[in-house]
Amino acid sequence: MVDFERDETQELMVATAREFGEQVVQPAEIELDRMADPADVAGSDLFRGVIEKAYELGFNKMALPEEYGGLGLDAITAGMVWEELSRYGTGIAATLIPSSIVPQLVAFLAPHNKELVERYVIPFCEDTKAEQLSAWASSEPDVGSDGKNYYDLTVHHHTSARGGGGSYVIDGTKSDFVSNGGIATVYMVFACVDPSQGIKGSGAFVVPGDSPGLGKGRALDKIGMRALNQAAVYFEGVEISEEYMIFPPGENYPMLHNAIVTVGNLGVGYLAVGLMRAAYEEALGYSRQRVQWGKPIFEHQLIAEKLLDAYISIESARAFLQKGSWLSKTSFPGDLKTSLSAKIYATDCAVRVTSEMVQVLGGYGISKDHPLEKHMRDAKLLQIMDGTNETLAVKAAALL
Ligand SMILES: Cc1cc2nc3c(=O)[nH]c(=O)nc-3n(C[C@H](O)[C@H](O)[C@H](O)COP(=O)(O)OP(=O)(O)OC[C@H]3O[C@@H](n4cnc5c(N)ncnc54)[C@H](O)[C@@H]3O)c2cc1C
Repeated sequence: MVDFERDETQELMVATAREFGEQVVQPAEIELDRMADPADVAGSDLFRGVIEKAYELGFNKMALPEEYGGLGLDAITAGMVWEELSRYGTGIAATLIPSSIVPQLVAFLAPHNKELVERYVIPFCEDTKAEQLSAWASSEPDVGSDGKNYYDLTVHHHTSARGGGGSYVIDGTKSDFVSNGGIATVYMVFACVDPSQGIKGSGAFVVPGDSPGLGKGRALDKIGMRALNQAAVYFEGVEISEEYMIFPPGENYPMLHNAIVTVGNLGVGYLAVGLMRAAYEEALGYSRQRVQWGKPIFEHQLIAEKLLDAYISIESARAFLQKGSWLSKTSFPGDLKTSLSAKIYATDCAVRVTSEMVQVLGGYGISKDHPLEKHMRDAKLLQIMDGTNETLAVKAAALL
């Protein structure tokens, strides 16, 4: 049953990602990280160029079904690509993961909705210029981890969707942390239709980015993954057709949210594995060159142990995530406990490993002349992305 051999498609996708990563993503990621004003990142030709090239290569549409023009790749293959892209640029890889959230959810939840399929799924699969890019807007200034609190009925999204006459009117503010929040052309918005049901009173709405009344916040200035645009999204009387609500409020809401989290957390985990590999490979090479106390520092056992710990973390995190991807491939969307646990493990490892790889370089590790300090900064965000590891742990533990 267990087989670690890559098939032909996997070989091709990983090789393509590696070449693109080395030649395009890595140099761009480093330059984008150094831009003092994060608002300049998304507006730059450099950022646009990388994302366009990623679309041209099809990395945006890996999980979309072939019947719409997607690549129809399974979760294991897509995971291999996310790891490879993150090896060269975690911020850029993290931009691409949510870029397909609207077409994916429309294809999955509303394949009968001709207007949405023709507007957001098929053109997205044909897009080679990154003209369509999604964001998912769930968290809010006062609803962070509470977005998973289905038990206290006084807790609900403050962003409201009031229905009537065949449409909904959306009002409210989503948090500064929405990935692609300032640059998306379409949003998957979770808004409260019925506050009496708490968080379960929210529905999922497709909201075009150019809707009158929709505002995009300024790019968040943050410690890491600076190539990833994160910004608030504002809604002031944004009117959309009721056909654009693709999941209604009610008892099934946690099921939808859990499905998204089951798939999404694996993606975040693979970002962590790619990031650990980047740090480990850099530190390993350095440790063989750097001579102290008469020998390469790799030959000092305490340094070799750090590198071994990195290697163990990479291999074990990847294996755990691939188990989650296999579950997702064989019975979609997969197993929540496995996905959450693998994400927690991979991202906690990434924070420890990237910090220890800085240590391997000694003083040079903290210098911006080496990429190590950036890897350490990037890793921190992964423990919070797609749910903090604490709240994911509470959820996973309840499933033991
Ligand atoms: C890189 C990144 C990308 C993101 N992308 C998106 C996105 O695309 N769309 C979107 O909507 N949001 C996004 N977010 C927001 C993210 O979902 C929230 O940051 C997250 O849910 C936590 O909410 P908060 O930041 O308000 O922290 P809070 O919920 O205020 O938590 C603060 C602290 O309290 C702890 N805590 C809270 N509740 C509990 C509990 N019950 N038990 C134990 N500890 C608890 C937390 O673990 C944390 O340490 C992103 C965040 C990051 C960092």
